[in-house]
Amino acid sequence: MEVYIPNSANKNVVKNLIISAHKDDGEMIGLKGIYDSMNSDGSCAMIVLTDGGGCPTTGKYSGVGYDEMVQIRTEEQKKASEVGKYNSLYLLEHKSTDIKKMTKSAFSELVYILRQFSDLDTVYIHNPFDNHPTHQAAAQMVITALRELKNNFDIKAVMQEGGVNYLPPKKIIGVEVWGSLDWLPEKYKYILDTSEAEKISDELMSQFVSQNYVKKYDIASKSRRYANATFYESHNENVYESISYGIDLTDFVLKSNKDVKDLFNEVVKEFSKTIGKKK
Ligand SMILES: [Zn+2]
Repeated sequence: MEVYIPNSANKNVVKNLIISAHKDDGEMIGLKGIYDSMNSDGSCAMIVLTDGGGCPTTGKYSGVGYDEMVQIRTEEQKKASEVGKYNSLYLLEHKSTDIKKMTKSAFSELVYILRQFSDLDTVYIHNPFDNHPTHQAAAQMVITALRELKNNFDIKAVMQEGGVNYLPPKKIIGVEVWGSLDWLPEKYKYILDTSEAEKISDELMSQFVSQNYVKKYDIASKSRRYANATFYESHNENVYESISYGIDLTDFVLKSNKDVKDLFNEVVKEFSKTIGKKK
């Protein structure tokens, strides 16, 4: 694990924490948090779980080996952290399989880092319905870690033990990357207004040269946010210029022990109520 403190680091208290599977996902799922941190009294930190060496490579990257790819992506992620003035960047550098298997070392590292953030407004994670298996696994690992912390370090423990200062985050939002969340019923849909954040998004996403070379993530993520805003409401002019969709997981994580399949079944049941009832 490497903890990188950008030269541009915002030293204010961390209010937004972004936990991503890969180097470049955090700038998509956490864009709102990064923007808010650059325009408020708080700051943001990012945890990246995998090393990213197994990404697809074509053209000029086709001869690049695993370890070299890891290094290239690390440098890109560090540059993005400089652009976004992150408070800190935690590169856990695990293999995807470690996250899918939720190995003890990956899990305990995550719990250890999470304990250090006791005053969080929002944690941005992958949504648990994401199509990418590593993203799903990353969401599951964070959900499990936050539940363990909540159960072991509740408010009573803070008051009694004094030295333990962990408090759960106020909001936990799972955000779209592989697969969109525009289909979510209103009850579950969480709108992240990124209208003002597009300029910084361009600067952040342009740091991931190797990834945008293989697939145009920069254009794709931006296009989805504009499409979300346009298709948000059919009978009025655009309310927003750009939107990311998330699912509010706060109660699911902190007030229940339901699994992701239970949540999905609930969401689909709610969705079925809307069929034939649209205005
Ligand atoms: Zn990813």
